[in-house]
Amino acid sequence: MTAGVDTLRLTAEDALGLVERGEVSAEELHGAYLDAIGERDPELHAFLRTVDEPEGSSIPIALKDVISTRGVETTAGSKILSGYVPVFDATVAARCKAAGLTLLGKTNTDEFAMGSSTENSAFGPSRNPWDPSRVPGGSGGGTAAAVSGGLAPWGLGSDTGGSIKQPSALCGNVGLRPTYGTVSRYGVVAFASSLDQIGPVAKTVRDVALLYRIVSGRDPCDSTTVELPAPVELPTAERLDGLRIGVPRQAVALEAIEPGVRSAFEAVLALAEELGAHVDECDLPLSFEYGLPCYYLIAPAEASSNLARYDGVRYGPRSEGETYRDAVERTRDDGFGAEPKRRIMLGTYALSAGYYDAYYGQAQKVRTLIVREHATAFESFDVLATPTSPTVAFPIGDKAADPLAMYACDLLTIPSCLAGLPGLSVPCGLSGGLPVGLQLVGPQFAENALFRAGHALERALGLDLVPERLRT
Ligand code: GLN
Repeated sequence: MTAGVDTLRLTAEDALGLVERGEVSAEELHGAYLDAIGERDPELHAFLRTVDEPEGSSIPIALKDVISTRGVETTAGSKILSGYVPVFDATVAARCKAAGLTLLGKTNTDEFAMGSSTENSAFGPSRNPWDPSRVPGGSGGGTAAAVSGGLAPWGLGSDTGGSIKQPSALCGNVGLRPTYGTVSRYGVVAFASSLDQIGPVAKTVRDVALLYRIVSGRDPCDSTTVELPAPVELPTAERLDGLRIGVPRQAVALEAIEPGVRSAFEAVLALAEELGAHVDECDLPLSFEYGLPCYYLIAPAEASSNLARYDGVRYGPRSEGETYRDAVERTRDDGFGAEPKRRIMLGTYALSAGYYDAYYGQAQKVRTLIVREHATAFESFDVLATPTSPTVAFPIGDKAADPLAMYACDLLTIPSCLAGLPGLSVPCGLSGGLPVGLQLVGPQFAENALFRAGHALERALGLDLVPERLRT
């Protein structure tokens, strides 16, 4: 412990207070987290690399390795980008720097953010601080493990179909996937551009709101961004009076939801009612039946196009060949792991002449219906609630050989991603000693409402979210 800082318990908000009051310097705080990393990261492997010299006057932050950082290698968890050192900062990295945050390091991710466990990282999996024999979730397992293991006060992840929300749930963190278009993707390694979003992971809802305030808003470098309609508020209310919570019948009926997850979810709904909320069932029949297949056509289709740029000419290492074509083929064969190759093949197939309408075109139509179904639900409800993940953290290796089982991890997070809606995962209890997450989904730009609901529940639950084995 450097300067009396307990990185396992310190929230980002409290860390900011320490620095502002001059009780701890930015250097000391950065050093305290580096010490924690030195102690625990050999086991957790949350970081792919750390930055030893802090530049900035405030608290540290960890960035998922899909976010370009000037002068700091950025690999997206892939061999095909190893050695790639960006000459510019992604807008979100620049905004963190402008706020004085010091870059602590780059966190592990499934290759190109494709996965739900971090086992697809070309640099080896991360481990869950609650039980290192289990996955931290994915693809942002590195950031989630770093935050819950006390290796970073907060971090930024990317979420295409659940990669912020699901690892946050599995590691006992709060994670926000913001409304599509509220956070810039300029300088972020693209996976599926109509779905990718950047968002915060932290210990508390207020920390998540603080970081969202720093990174959100229009960016002239990303034409898909908009200005927020209202400033980000830090939640304070402890009640939920009048909040209408909808529980999608078709989601809770899914057999994939483990009993322990189900009971933690039911208990938090009962608590919400005690706090003054109205909880009722709602219907989203298409979203939970067709969301997953629809996503696994659209996301690979877009990925196959986005990943075409990795040819060994523009970025990263090159495998030599007799001709240009040989060199590109070998580079891609050597550089991409199994999952990106699988997605490129799926996506190329779904986009090919003769199949485009049947697969990609059909998926886009289903997506429109999913958008409408959510809009209808929000005529009667303020937020929708489901568990974030059907299961708690699973053992490393359990699903690694079964892509379909891995894809099913995002059954509950994907529908709202397809609809472009914000989703907040908040810890809502433990099952077998492992964290369970509650997913709250709102209409577009309803982040403040999600923060209020999440904060009131977090306060009422009062969970100790330091992994049991690390408590002293
Ligand atoms: N697990 C999902 C996938 O593999 C989502 C990943 C993500 O959100 N980046 O595509």
